[in-house]
Amino acid sequence: MKVTFKSSHFTDYLKPSQIVFNLKAKDKIQAIEELLDVLVKQKLIKNEKLILTRIIDRERLESTALGHNVAFPHARVDTEGNLAVAVGKSAKGIDFDSIDDKKVHLIILIVWDHSLPGLFNHLFAGLAQFLRKPGFRQRIFGAKNKSELRKALSEVELQLPQEDRIISRASLLKKLQDIEIKKKKVKKAQRKPLEEQANLIRHELDEALVDRFDRLMKRYGFAVAEVDIGACQGCNINVATGMRSAIEGSNDIYICENCGKFLIASKNKEK
Ligand SMILES: [Zn+2]
Repeated sequence: MKVTFKSSHFTDYLKPSQIVFNLKAKDKIQAIEELLDVLVKQKLIKNEKLILTRIIDRERLESTALGHNVAFPHARVDTEGNLAVAVGKSAKGIDFDSIDDKKVHLIILIVWDHSLPGLFNHLFAGLAQFLRKPGFRQRIFGAKNKSELRKALSEVELQLPQEDRIISRASLLKKLQDIEIKKKKVKKAQRKPLEEQANLIRHELDEALVDRFDRLMKRYGFAVAEVDIGACQGCNINVATGMRSAIEGSNDIYICENCGKFLIASKNKEK
């Protein structure tokens, strides 16, 4: 299914009233609550408590702090077709269990709907690309007021990641595999929380990606293979040097040209 959006510009979904230039919050949960309050005031969301729970569950699964002092808490719930975005800036910084251990100074909170499949991947790819742009920190963290901040954020565009490469989702896909494998081993009564965790991940990954994942799981019992000492651990065939170096140290997903499994970097540090 092809999804079309009313606009491909992120800031078209971000009115100045959805920006908190100086967050009062001192921790992660307070920050999420503060931004959710904004969305309630703007009548963009209704069930604040449920959404808060969802967002926190998602953060427990894996922090949405992407590095570069930016976090991206989110939930996919019923919003009647809305994309609800709130942005908060914190001069002091907030501990968000970031992958790079740095405090978070910019929080982009997003709540969206089941009627907008694929949206997350568009947005995530756009944000990932924006975060790689030189000078983005200067423009974001040097902004003197709301409108300067909003102007800097207008550079973020919704776009689809390249086909052979899915940006910054490798760890999440690996987590989904670990959960699915665990699910098979536990007793029926213990499956429900695992099922819920798996659904959180499934909701935000691209549909085509999840389909492929399920097919591989069914066929081989696993879908994600690490690249270790230069070879795909799914088929033991060497991975092209160029792809190998691209995978190393990244959180991107590639596809093994030989066996078709998802390739991710090995956890074992190669010497
Ligand atoms: Zn392979």
